[in-house]
Amino acid sequence: MNDTIAAISTKLGVGAISIIRVSGSKSIEIVNSIFKGKDLTKVDSHTINYGYINNGVEDLDEVLVSVMRSPKTFTRENIVEINCHGGISTTLSILDLIVEKGARLAEPGEFTKRAFLNGRIDLTQAESVMDLIESKTDQSRKLALSSLEGSLKKYIQTFRNKLKHLLANIEVNIDYPEYYDIEEVTKEELKETIKILKEDLTNLIKKSEERQILKNGIKTIIIGRPNVGKSSILNNLLKEEKAIVTDIEGTTRDIVEGSIMFDGIELSLIDTAGIRETDNLAEKIGVEKSLSLINEANLIITVLNGSEELTENDLFILSQVEDKNPVIVLNKNDLPLRINKNKLKFKHIVSTNTNTLDGLTPLKEEIKKMFKLEEISEDDYTYLANNRQLTLAKKSLQSLKDAEESFENNAPIDIVEVDLKEVFELLGNITGENYNDELLDELFANFCVGK
Ligand code: GDP
Repeated sequence: MNDTIAAISTKLGVGAISIIRVSGSKSIEIVNSIFKGKDLTKVDSHTINYGYINNGVEDLDEVLVSVMRSPKTFTRENIVEINCHGGISTTLSILDLIVEKGARLAEPGEFTKRAFLNGRIDLTQAESVMDLIESKTDQSRKLALSSLEGSLKKYIQTFRNKLKHLLANIEVNIDYPEYYDIEEVTKEELKETIKILKEDLTNLIKKSEERQILKNGIKTIIIGRPNVGKSSILNNLLKEEKAIVTDIEGTTRDIVEGSIMFDGIELSLIDTAGIRETDNLAEKIGVEKSLSLINEANLIITVLNGSEELTENDLFILSQVEDKNPVIVLNKNDLPLRINKNKLKFKHIVSTNTNTLDGLTPLKEEIKKMFKLEEISEDDYTYLANNRQLTLAKKSLQSLKDAEESFENNAPIDIVEVDLKEVFELLGNITGENYNDELLDELFANFCVGK
């Protein structure tokens, strides 16, 4: 990690400016050797310096160079950033020159990896850097930023401190068993603290699972037999003519996708072929696809034509979704209702039409309720951001439960201690207190170069 790395941090292409970032002990010297302007080795830290990049023969570009000295930088190393004119040729020739002078091309995420390895950020913050870059909605941006500012890191630190205190008490208890008083205190504290920690972690996991949806969008499938109004609903939601709407049954053969922003979160919509028994091959493939998509979706919108009695086909579709918490839409409510709502044993049933502007409002309101969208926007933003963090948290919770069980079964205190130590370790893995190279390689491989 002692070498100096360089990369283009902006998107390579034609643009007003590009930024080339250099980090490492030799970064200032390297850039200084190709810079025509002030002596960069002598300028103050955190200054922007005007000049030219020169390859020894000619000037390549007129630039602004930021010099930031260790340790108050992103990587905690010396960082130099060159703002040059955007454009592939200029940017690449400056980068080439920097490499020629002794820097190495950075790997994806290597700047962030250095920030982590040098103790500037923990793993949850590193992961949120990528989340922030990738965030498409207001909500996902807020979540990522909160993590970057260290909300999860602080939460886990506090949690681990409580465990540490508890473990210290247990140690005393094991080392000095003759002090009966200490054992009593420890057992009381143990019982209470384990209970609180368990509840706390359970809540965090639950909340985080709900918020995975904020980050990834609600994957939504619209199903129903042909002609009930699926495409019309999809179109109304998308407010554009993406799916083909016709009166001929089975016209929406392909799966049509689109997404809408919904209260700051993304609803990715998939319209599928009308589900029914069919011999038409193209249609059949669509139907099979829709049934398989049911299991992937976070939200299943099952559409019925409310103005017609339930058909065999409707009943078949309802049977496919009955344990999947779908929202049942009785569409065409501008026509007389012919379905007996009481016969439908579903929790979420709404009545809609696609003819009026607010005809789909009941459906939208139900979705907000189902995903607690209003609550989430007012809530705090500490959460586990991805599967890695969630899996570790769930393992920690299991070990906490094991500790509680051992305790309740009057197991020797050192057995309880083993489980609590496990919780301590697992939580440390979330923040990267303990890490291995393989994990880091995998994690940072998903980053873009220059970050
Ligand atoms: P899909 O096959 O389920 O995708 O159904 P479509 O969206 O293609 O709609 C089938 C037919 O029903 C079209 O003629 C639509 O205009 C009509 N339709 C859709 N929604 C409504 C509604 O709310 N009320 C009425 N009366 N007709 C509708």
